[in-house]
Amino acid sequence: MRRQSKQLHIGNVLVGGDAPVSVQSMTKTDTHNIEATVRQIKELEDAGCEIIRLAVLDEEAAVALHEIKRQVSIPIVADIHFDYRLAIQAIKSGVDALRLNPGNIGSNDRVEAVIREAKPREIPIRIGVNAGSLPKDLADQDMPLHEKMSVAALRHVKILEDLDFDLIKVSLKASDVLTTVKAYETIAKQIPYPLHIGITEAGTEYCGVVRSSAGLGILLNEGIGDTMRVSLTADPLKEVKAAYEILDALNIRSRKAKLISCPTCGRTQANVFRLAKEMEEALETVYKPIKVAVMGCAVNGPGEAKDADIGVACGKGMGILFKHGVEFATVKEDEIIPRMLEEIERL
Ligand code: SF4
Repeated sequence: MRRQSKQLHIGNVLVGGDAPVSVQSMTKTDTHNIEATVRQIKELEDAGCEIIRLAVLDEEAAVALHEIKRQVSIPIVADIHFDYRLAIQAIKSGVDALRLNPGNIGSNDRVEAVIREAKPREIPIRIGVNAGSLPKDLADQDMPLHEKMSVAALRHVKILEDLDFDLIKVSLKASDVLTTVKAYETIAKQIPYPLHIGITEAGTEYCGVVRSSAGLGILLNEGIGDTMRVSLTADPLKEVKAAYEILDALNIRSRKAKLISCPTCGRTQANVFRLAKEMEEALETVYKPIKVAVMGCAVNGPGEAKDADIGVACGKGMGILFKHGVEFATVKEDEIIPRMLEEIERL
């Protein structure tokens, strides 16, 4: 069952409560470069990204957010470290949310100055605790890392609550998967706010997707997580794609057609690796709730994939096409994908 949390608006996207788990990413362009940043955001939006975070390193970047915001339609989160003036400028530039740790920006009057701008505009703030940057007094304490992370987050939360500000979202990220899971499980019981989940510094595409799937899969299956980012040392489009695959695998959200394919074995007599890859690429833009199967043989293929809307069981240089397990055509190997796509178009 989904954990109950308060609901926030990040621009026009609802986060928390019973809102769908939203998918977010972060631009990897220089925020000063408005053209490149807008281009990347639009590509991400096309891929299904629903919220985008931008690093704000200086005043010029905070000002650039105004023009970037004007040119894109998904909500923008300004990522601020330490300098409260950048947070205020980002708010004035029209961002939809901030990522900022109030305990890291100095005296209380600086936090108050940010809240004075954020509150009337209903701009939520994400508190983001990373295992690698805990306050020294906490880092030195003899307690498990996940508990330290939770305590660090609660300190930031208290600062905002004391200012009567509750448009809060929290993330607790570590590169170690199980530490991250335990940290979220701990904080989930202690605060009513929505949680942004992710495994930080998860690694390059392959390892990063595996680690994120393992960690976020556990959390999502426990009902924890209201918005998510898969962090990869790779093109951010891959982050969005991986996030949807995780949600789809858990039957939480489905965005496009789902491909199932067999691993192949000694029975396979066609190039199933190529066929499955081609089909996967073709399905990238098929936004239908259907299941498509590419199977390597006619012995097990149709049976294994009988719940697919359409599938192929390959033979020697040919394929038997079926719908819901019922054969409807036999075609040559190079006609398998085009013919299946024709049928998918009709579904
Ligand atoms: S569907 Fe056929 S080819 Fe594919 S793994 Fe199973 S037995 Fe092997």
